[in-house]
Amino acid sequence: MKKHLKTLKKDAESAISKLKSRGMLDHDFRIKKDIDHVYMPLKDNCTIDDIGSGPWEIVDIEGVENERKIMPQKYSGSYDTIGDIIVMKYADPERSVELAENLMKYRKGTRAVFVDRGIKGEFRKRSLELLAGEDRRVTTYRENGLIFKVDLDKAYFSPRLATERLMISKEVNDGEFIVDMFAGVGPFSLNIARTRKCRIVAIDSNCEAISLLEENIKINRLDGNVVPVCGDAGEKITEYTDVDRIIMNLPHEAHLFVEKALPSLKHKGTLNYYEINTVENIEKRMEEFRAMGLELVYKRVVHGYSKLESMYSLEFRKVSV
Ligand code: SAM
Repeated sequence: MKKHLKTLKKDAESAISKLKSRGMLDHDFRIKKDIDHVYMPLKDNCTIDDIGSGPWEIVDIEGVENERKIMPQKYSGSYDTIGDIIVMKYADPERSVELAENLMKYRKGTRAVFVDRGIKGEFRKRSLELLAGEDRRVTTYRENGLIFKVDLDKAYFSPRLATERLMISKEVNDGEFIVDMFAGVGPFSLNIARTRKCRIVAIDSNCEAISLLEENIKINRLDGNVVPVCGDAGEKITEYTDVDRIIMNLPHEAHLFVEKALPSLKHKGTLNYYEINTVENIEKRMEEFRAMGLELVYKRVVHGYSKLESMYSLEFRKVSV
């Protein structure tokens, strides 16, 4: 899936010139049209704040790669750009190096292309295989006005939730006490701390992720707003009470932590919960959580994951004490 700016046809010309002047149009993809609308492919980390308000919205739709850019061989899989590193989700074993070299050539500033051989273990680290460029997994990534040091060898990171993180940061009110239970290098916590005056406890059991988070707090001059904690979130959460908002971004296992975390959440407090699953299983999960005293505020798909599964963002309010 690819982010596009959707406008009515009559507004397309002004939207395109705005995107071009701000360097936000992704020339590696084609502009798409239907009867009434035009869809302009956006650079990966572009947000509505970068574009400015107007008669448009950002939507996730299937992107069509501009073949001229990826000649002579077209890479038909998806990939993530993290700073100057590209991570391909899948590479045809027979053509992988050639495809990676093409990506290096046509995506200016790329220093390395890896293929993702899977995310493993409690720390959700990526198993990466170098296909082209330097074997360097440390990079600087920019998101929503923040700068992150990322080390793909040491800690999990994905740029795919950049818009989601921005949306959550906009929901937060000044003064909230927030616990980010699976914080990684801190993208949820820092997106919130950038624009809101909150006390945020950011927990991760991977102490190398917490060290990177500490560096990221300094890089973004957000000292004092975010408290990094290395440890098991299921244990650590019990040390806090009267929490206004708990964020759980551990999409395959977060359900195992909900019961443990609920006593720490205030009455009417918010749970931002992420899960990768099928529609049917998400419905069952919502029933389960309802029985635990959580009322659904919204459910949205963040991105597709497999043929039947998607990453869901679910927000709940605690209604029983
Ligand atoms: N929220 C971050 C983000 O958006 O990039 C990281 C999300 S990553 C999917 C999940 C994180 O949870 C990993 O950094 C992993 O180390 C951490 N984790 C896994 N099990 C944990 C546990 N029991 N307690 C605390 N952190 C845990």
